[in-house]
Amino acid sequence: MAFIGRVGMYVILATLGCGAWAQDYKPGEVIVKLKNKGAMSSYAFLGKAQTDKQMTLKESYGKMNMHHFALGKGTSVSQAIHDLSQDPDVEFVEPNYYLHKSDDTGIQERFSMAEIEEYAASSQEKILATDSNIGLDYAWQSLSGGGVGALAANPPVVAVIDTGLQIDHTVITDTSALWVNSGEIAGNGIDDDGNGYIDDVNGWNFVTNSGTIYDDDGHGTHVTGIILSVDQNIFTTPRTTAKIRIMPLKFLDGSGIGTTSDAISAIYYAVNNGAVVLNNSWGGTGYSAALHDAVAYTYSKGASFVAAAGNSANNNDSVPLYPASYDVPNVISVAATGSSNYLASFSNYGATSVDLGSPGTYILSTIPTNSFGTSSGTSMATPFVAGTIAQMKVASPNMLGYQLKSIVLDQIQTYSQLSGKVYTSGKLNTANAVSSAGGAAVDSSQPAYTVSYQSASRSVASENAAMGGCGTVAKLSGSTGVPISQILVAIGLLLLPLVAYAIRGVLYPQSRRRHERYKIDSEVRISVGDRELVGSVSSISLGGAQVNTAALLEDGGMVTMLIESPDGSEKIEVGGRVVWSEANKAYGVAFDQAPQSALQRITDWTRNLQKV
Ligand code: CA
Repeated sequence: MAFIGRVGMYVILATLGCGAWAQDYKPGEVIVKLKNKGAMSSYAFLGKAQTDKQMTLKESYGKMNMHHFALGKGTSVSQAIHDLSQDPDVEFVEPNYYLHKSDDTGIQERFSMAEIEEYAASSQEKILATDSNIGLDYAWQSLSGGGVGALAANPPVVAVIDTGLQIDHTVITDTSALWVNSGEIAGNGIDDDGNGYIDDVNGWNFVTNSGTIYDDDGHGTHVTGIILSVDQNIFTTPRTTAKIRIMPLKFLDGSGIGTTSDAISAIYYAVNNGAVVLNNSWGGTGYSAALHDAVAYTYSKGASFVAAAGNSANNNDSVPLYPASYDVPNVISVAATGSSNYLASFSNYGATSVDLGSPGTYILSTIPTNSFGTSSGTSMATPFVAGTIAQMKVASPNMLGYQLKSIVLDQIQTYSQLSGKVYTSGKLNTANAVSSAGGAAVDSSQPAYTVSYQSASRSVASENAAMGGCGTVAKLSGSTGVPISQILVAIGLLLLPLVAYAIRGVLYPQSRRRHERYKIDSEVRISVGDRELVGSVSSISLGGAQVNTAALLEDGGMVTMLIESPDGSEKIEVGGRVVWSEANKAYGVAFDQAPQSALQRITDWTRNLQKV
């Protein structure tokens, strides 16, 4: 195959062999990050993986050079990790871990809309949370109407990465809180804004791979209501237009379970489509370097990443829970407090790794369908913090994640009950945080952060170890505290700002691009076996093309394409191989059998085209 270059000799620095598999993972799948050796090396690996190892590329994550694969039949995850970790092109390989929502109870008590509104109207007390006591009134009053942070043209967007959302819940519609992707036309089957997702009008459902958002669990809708409850009292009417927008990104299924690969996709979607606060009421104990990279990316973009500390009554200092335990400077790890400002009985804690407490017991919020319910968990504590940061962004739109975190932690209310439990010995204070953000000068820069992959699973394993003797994250990184090895990644955040707006796979890296790529808008007829499909080509180079079609193309599949010239006057025929796909709608096709005459025509066409 023409695009498979010769793999040169490289020094093996380190590979990530033995998985520290403290939790379950999806059978038959791995996430692989390749070393930064340039496009040809990546092509070679992808070709080799698909032809020699029968692996199927499911998704590629931009210039992170990270790829999500399905393994060939009969290959176990442990065997694949053992094999791939010895490949000189592989930076790391890991299982596709399952992740879980972080509520402790599910919905405890349910109320109808009428019951809540009647109660709210008659009661003098705040019914939001039995002990919320975090100064919500301040946010409601000071930021409402024509005051500070009055309705902005572009309200801060909070991504709720969760089980979804009942998007037509009365609270959501009354407050107009649902994010709208202005670049997308609903229901036309076209990726109008070119972000790789078709008809993503209000967010994306990574479980079904569609723009249809719903909540078949209730968790995401509950979390969303809490974020909005920092904006206004959602229990009373009339409700007002929210000063923030909610971008629902569903990656947890109806049982509250999702995969790391989908979480990563949701995180990239969030920041690449304008979210500035990410609420993450979920987690898992398996350290994922891939997820670490994704969280670091959110930091490089200035976003805030708020994460639940977990509900196992564990000390996260010794038993980390991810993503809350990543040391990325924009991550805020949130514990749950209960009555009298004590740590909730179920809440994880950590004097160094958990930042602050926030109300998390018997929290009343929205649930499907069109009603309210109470729930407990660090899942509920987290959105109070995310909602507070969103209001801080209303007060100070240009403030970055690093500074927002510092202010939130500086402005807590300390409680002796929380001493030794959380880093700040304190609990969220929304009033102080929002007030302080409104009055503070904005830092336009943030300290540099370079991903240093966590040590536990970072050694080349013996075969024996790879077959199951790796131990757990807790065992390796917790009580002993002895790192097995450390890999400092030279690229890290320095390279991150270069990550393309859309995640376009490895086909066209900017820095080491082999062929210039040009924007084009041409029709293409694609033959796959006996099938003939119609689509469009949105970019082209001498090495390949991006093809958009509503039909499903198999990763690694061979295709023949009849591509029309930009002026429609002629067509060329080239053979190729699908090397990446996004949302099963956009495909990267590397030219495999392109006659010299066809390449000459492409050269002629592109003289008048704009470079990408
Ligand atoms: Ca789109």
